This record gives sequence, structure tokens and C-alpha cells, in this order.
Amino acid sequence: MQTLSSHILGRWHTGTEKPVTLENPTTLAPLATVGSGGFDSKAVLAFAREKGGPALAALNFQERGKLLAALSGAIHEHRDELIQLALENGGNTRGDAKFDIDGATGTLMYYAGLGEKLGARTLLSDGEGLQLGRTARFWGQHVYTTRPGVALHINAFNFPAWGMLEKMACALLAGMPVIEKPGTPTALVAWRIAQIIVEKGILPAGVYQFVSGSLGDMLDHLGPQDVLAFTGSSGTGANLRGNANLIKHNVRVNIEADSLNAAVLAPDVDASSDAYGLFLSNVALDMTQKTGQKCTAVRRVFVPAERVKDVVADLVAQLGRTKVGDPSEKDVRMGPLASKSQFEEVKKGIERLAAHGTIATGGTDPIQPKGYFVAPTLIVAKDAQNPAFHAEEVFGPCAVVLPYSGDAVEAARLVNLGGGGLVCSVYGNDAEWTDRFVLLAAPWHGRIWIGSDKMAEQALPPGMVLPMMIHGGPGRAGGGDELGAERGLHFYMQRTALQGFKGAIEATFGDKSPATGTSGS
Ligand code: NAP
Repeated sequence: MQTLSSHILGRWHTGTEKPVTLENPTTLAPLATVGSGGFDSKAVLAFAREKGGPALAALNFQERGKLLAALSGAIHEHRDELIQLALENGGNTRGDAKFDIDGATGTLMYYAGLGEKLGARTLLSDGEGLQLGRTARFWGQHVYTTRPGVALHINAFNFPAWGMLEKMACALLAGMPVIEKPGTPTALVAWRIAQIIVEKGILPAGVYQFVSGSLGDMLDHLGPQDVLAFTGSSGTGANLRGNANLIKHNVRVNIEADSLNAAVLAPDVDASSDAYGLFLSNVALDMTQKTGQKCTAVRRVFVPAERVKDVVADLVAQLGRTKVGDPSEKDVRMGPLASKSQFEEVKKGIERLAAHGTIATGGTDPIQPKGYFVAPTLIVAKDAQNPAFHAEEVFGPCAVVLPYSGDAVEAARLVNLGGGGLVCSVYGNDAEWTDRFVLLAAPWHGRIWIGSDKMAEQALPPGMVLPMMIHGGPGRAGGGDELGAERGLHFYMQRTALQGFKGAIEATFGDKSPATGTSGS
């Protein structure tokens, strides 16, 4: 059995406190142990700030982009091995594992391309300069400079590759060194990636450190130029945000938390239309891909009341085509949940929701003799207003169908009861209806995905996070965002308003100067 170590202060370190055993959620065979502790957090942070920061500061965007491309290539070389690890440690099907690993290398390549585009500069301008005085001699310009601190990234278990590398792509391109902590239950994939990164020697010393297990007291030593980017449950996010040291030093924090993502079927969508086919396949895909363990997966499905019976029958038929079982088998489309605690939490969550509705398919009865398997479960709500459906994220293959009147205003009001979401998908061909819905739902969401007959053929599913668009959301979704092309870099940089003589400001910091150039996004 393997022991997962950390790579800190330029060497591998094995923690021995509070060991946790990682297992294969299909066979329950133990795979690895992860221990914690035995390091000085202050020294780890200082190593990043004092070694890694200056090494990145010596490079421009284009050169940092080349590092990202090299990382992407190095990880891609090990694609098959990583897929196998995700199958064993995460219960991923091959498709699930590819989604994570190719998402990671693709995002790195996207940011490598952005680095190339941003060119031989180290600063970003924010918009055009503007006249502040009586004449243009007194001039203003907003500019972004890299924060001379360290980016601490805490990642969730469900995307061990993509979650870590999309954060790294933005931080490294912006010029900040990183410390990565993976979610422990599926840390094997992240740990192997850490080994590859270290073995290849692509990154200068101090730019990348990796902590298996607990971070110890590291949050207590972050300072005003450091940042914390967290992905995980809203409960953990709230707990971390409340850390006294982070509050005291106003450490910049980005939280990507959970979300009761909604799919809304507009009343005009005909059962024979492309938009309806897209709705059925996307809802079923979201419920079963990665066994529903996706932050963007649909949890609530809003359907006009008079169509609930037919739509539920169609969804049940669609879900019935998903073969559940050992993810190493070729025709299996959904594997087990990733861990024992996930298995227990999801079963409890299904039972809590089912108490307020009826189970159309699935439930909590065992479906395999061994392993953390739960059937794709569709529940039909008795009352769409019931707060139970808008409060709890069941992080597994479970969604609830909620009837509504067909009115766009009512649909938005019910969707917004989720308290802030990462993504909401709406399926409608009547632009007046969807526009009304979008205007009311947008303030509560980081992303709205509008499905219609016109885009059905080319659409990527709403559960897919794209590096050129922001990912995040208000309220319970964490209140932050990440990615979104150049926007993803801004978290790692400080925006400063420069005011002074136009000639001097424009020469070095102007939106067309060689140093800053025009903002690319
Ligand atoms: P979690 O239990 O909140 O853990 C997330 C991360 O926080 C893990 O690395 C965990 O480490 C760490 N952590 C927990 N307590 C900590 C503490 N006191 N100090 C420092 N780190 C701490 O979430 P999860 O079960 O891994 O992930 C599932 C959740 O993430 C779901 O709710 C899902 O919706 C959400 N998620 C959101 C997004 C998004 O982009 N918004 C993406 C993916 C997942 P250990 O594993 O070692 O405990």
C-alpha cells in the first residue's frame, strides 16, 4: 500500500499524524494512507514567497504560459495511468476520469495560450486611461500588479486533477507561487500529478508545493499579500472564511462552494423538439456523470405542473439507459460514490428529500453486493415551495422534479430560493419568456445556460466549466468566481489606480504601453 507524501521546502515529506486510509470504493480494497503534520507552516509559506515568487516575477506572461504548456504536456503523457488511478480511487468511469484529467490539461493549455497572447509583459491595464484634471496633463489609469505573496489552494475531492490545475493555471500565469492541498478521499490522482510535476522539474523551486492530509495551522500564518482559494462544501467554506487571522489581515479569499443547480423547462418546449431532447439528456447526464458528484450537477428540475407525469416518465426512461456498476467495465456509465462518508451522507440526504415527495426511480436500497453504490434517484416533490428542496445539496446521483405554473416570474422565484447558484439551465424557444426568466435569475447565479432548438446541435452541456467563462456564484455558491479568461488572473493581482502626469503614466502603465498593453478579456 502506498503512503502519500507532501512536497514542501523542495523535498518529499511524509506526515505521520492522524493517518487516513484511502480505498477503492468499488471493491473496498485499501489503496494508500495519508498522514499529516511534521512540518513548519511558516517555513512552507516563506519558501513560496521568498523562492517561488521572485522566480515567477522574473518571467513575463509569455514565459509563464510556456511553463503551463509544459505542465499540460507532462500530465497528458501520463493520461492512461491517471485514468486508471481515478477508476481505482475515485470510482470514476473512464469517461468521468477523462472529464477530470482532460479538463485539467485543456485548461492549462487555454491559459498557456492566454500567456502567449498577453506577451512579454508582467502588468495588466484595466480599461483605458482617463482625464482627471482640467486638461489631459492630470491623468488616471487602473493597473494590475502581481501580489508578492503565496496562493494557498484547498481543493474538493471530486475533481482531483481539474480542480487543482485550473487554479494553478490562473495563479502561475498571474505570477503567484502555489501551495496545493487536495481533498483527502481521492488524493491519489492529485498526488501522482504532484510527483509528475516534481519529477519533470518544469517549475522553479518554491513555485509549487503540495500538502497531503491536513494543512495544520497554515491558515493562521497567511498575510495581507497572500490569497486563499477554496473549493468544497459551503459549511467548510464558511468555517474557513471565519478564520481569525484571515479576518485580521483581510486575506483575499475566494470560495467555490456548493449549489442547488436548477434546470427549468419552459412551457413552450414541445416534447418532439430538439430543446426537449437536450433537456432530457442533460439532466440525466448531470445526475449520473461522476455519480452526481459535480458542483454543477442539476439538483432541482422545474417542470410545468401539467407536464410533470410525462416528463418524469421520460427522465426515468433516460436514466434507465445508464448502466451502473464496476467502473472498469466498458459499458458501465456510472460507478460508486467516492468514499464511505459520501455513501452515508448521500443515502441520508435521499431519505430526507424523499420524505417530502415520491421516489420515481432509485432510492437507497442496495444495488450491488459490495461498494458504495447508489442508484440514480429521481424524486417528485409534493410541494415546490417546501424549503427542504432548496436547502440541502445531496452530492450524489439524485435530483428532484418540482412542479411550477409555467410562469417565468414564478420559475425564477422558485429557482432563486436556492440562495445563489453556480449554474442554472433553462430550456425554451420563446425568447420573451426566457429573457424575462434570465433577468430575474441572473443576479442569483454565476452562469445561466439557455437551451433552445437553435443551439441544440452545438451545445456543450451546462455541467461543463469552460476556462473562457467565469465559474462561481453568489450566496451559498460561495460568493466568488474563478476562470473567465484574463478575469481569472485578477484574483492574484492587485488593482491600483495610478494618478499623475499623462505622459509618464502612459509611457509605462498606459493601456497601450509595452509593459501593460490592452486588457485581453
Ligand atoms: P469539503 O469536505 O468541504 O472539503 C473541501 C476541502 O477542504 C478538502 O480539501 C478538505 O480536506 C478541506 N478542509 C476541510 N476542513 C478544513 C479545515 N478546517 N482547514 C483546511 N482545509 C479543510 O468538501 P468535499 O467533500 O471535498 O467536496 C464536495 C463539496 O465541494 C460539494 O459540496 C461540492 O458542491 C463542492 N464543490 C464545489 C465546487 C465549485 O466549483 N463551486 C467544485 C467542486 C466541489 P480533507 O479532504 O482533508 O478533509
